Amino acid sequence: MKYCSIYGKEFEGWGNNARPVNEGTCCDNCNTNIVIPRRIQDHMNSIKGRENNCGN
Ligand SMILES: [Zn+2]
Repeated sequence: MKYCSIYGKEFEGWGNNARPVNEGTCCDNCNTNIVIPRRIQDHMNSIKGRENNCGN
């Protein structure tokens, strides 16, 4: 059994890297519903930051 660092519960399966949400592993469900949206959000923020710096 692996341990999901987001839910704080054990789960079956291979597990996923929970970064950037945290440094541990997470289940497929958290990966799909929390980690991937978070990565997309961070990516959008980095693009936005670049655009703002571009205006000077
Ligand atoms: Zn989970």
